[in-house]
Amino acid sequence: MSNSALPTADQQIEFLAKIQRIFTEGEFTATYKFALLIALSDLAVELGRDTGEPLALDMKQIAEQFIALYWPMRRPYQSGLPGSQSDILAQNKGAQAAVLNQVKRFSDSAIQTLPRAIQTRIWPEVLSEVARVIRDQPVRYLQNVGGSTDPFLFDPPQSRKSLVLKPGVMFCLRRYYGLIHQLAKAGWIDHVKSNKLNATVIGVTDDLESFMFGASRQSLSVVADVLRPLQNDRCFYCSGLLRRESAEVDHFIAWARYPRDTAHNFVLAHRSCNNAKRDILAAERHVEHWLDRNASLGDDFVSTMQQSGFVTDLNTSISVARWAYQQGVENSAHGWVEKKVLENLGASCLDLFSGS
Ligand SMILES: [Zn+2]
Repeated sequence: MSNSALPTADQQIEFLAKIQRIFTEGEFTATYKFALLIALSDLAVELGRDTGEPLALDMKQIAEQFIALYWPMRRPYQSGLPGSQSDILAQNKGAQAAVLNQVKRFSDSAIQTLPRAIQTRIWPEVLSEVARVIRDQPVRYLQNVGGSTDPFLFDPPQSRKSLVLKPGVMFCLRRYYGLIHQLAKAGWIDHVKSNKLNATVIGVTDDLESFMFGASRQSLSVVADVLRPLQNDRCFYCSGLLRRESAEVDHFIAWARYPRDTAHNFVLAHRSCNNAKRDILAAERHVEHWLDRNASLGDDFVSTMQQSGFVTDLNTSISVARWAYQQGVENSAHGWVEKKVLENLGASCLDLFSGS
């Protein structure tokens, strides 16, 4: 594959077949390989573009994604079933996974959120240690399948500090993001469930999926309080007045498309508007409004949201949205206007992002 050409349909299918082989034939002692696939696809969306070019990633960026993934799992899981006991889930078949032990260093000091953890004195040390484990383990073993190594995602890193996704890989990770996430999460849950060390914790039935990856557990009420005055007490979508009982915080790019709470992705809307929009991409006029709104939000918004534990990097929110709309345009998706009204999503909505 040349350095910038988009992968052909055949190459994309071959890529997916190789991803699938990792799941079906790869060996998983710990859950790191799942985390690595999720982290690489997240970074491809957040930092990449829809081109066939290689993507260089800093090992510490990957480590930060790992820490975010294991963050909810640093707490004990309680199934609440008779005969089960609350404990931290084993993420390895032997001794607890080193990455989780690093993340657990934040649970002792009553640090509730990841943004807070990042501000602590021990953060650089934790990040380096997690990066080291990633380098020594999943990066080394992820592409081992059926007794040999097939380096289709990346070559063995030349530097300790970075990892370079091969030409075409960033493109495929972005295009098949949903599928790869689903496969990796299902594999991860199975790994945890089938690990004998977890038998007494999980019990017979469970809600492991929502514990490990589930809908946001962060309270959105604080978001509503922050957004209401900024939106002059009006619905983001229809501009109608919000009455307190009918307002809801909406993920502008739906959670189902990209399950991460980033501060600039929130808008306040009527419950009826939110329900009508569902997981559909909002129409072009709303994108324009959203970009303008974000450009006008001040430092107060950012600091309040940061204190509440949300990711507040505007560029991340915009990159995710650009990616979602690119996918939408390619798949001839519709954009939601109001109530039951949809319109075709034109390529023109992508131009809106060009200034961002
Ligand atoms: Zn409305």
